[in-house]
Amino acid sequence: MSRFKCWRSVRDKFLHVLCGEGSEAFEALPASIRGLGPWQGSKEGEIADLRLPLRLLLAEQAFVIVHEHVSKLDLEARRAEPSAVDNRSCPDCNGTGNVAQHGGLRQKNCWRCGGRGWLPPKR
Ligand SMILES: [Zn+2]
Repeated sequence: MSRFKCWRSVRDKFLHVLCGEGSEAFEALPASIRGLGPWQGSKEGEIADLRLPLRLLLAEQAFVIVHEHVSKLDLEARRAEPSAVDNRSCPDCNGTGNVAQHGGLRQKNCWRCGGRGWLPPKR
């Protein structure tokens, strides 16, 4: 399995269980977990994008219980690199976010990209 699916308990909106995508993975959950439902489908995505602790737990026990409001469900790691498709590397700092100051003795935030190292795509 390479995708995960998150289920939310209808009885307790803070209660989520994360497992592999598909009914097979869901039906493989322990009865004690399934008994906490009924469950309704929530977020899903690539397992590779999950935050590391969640990914490890998922690999270890085939499901993860997350007790958090859906608005605070923070399942996926933030990508450090903005996608090259969406953003252009900043030409002034070559994507580093810093530019040399005083002949290279100091670094400061690049004025053009504000220290992000990339620019939003042109519209
Ligand atoms: Zn820049």
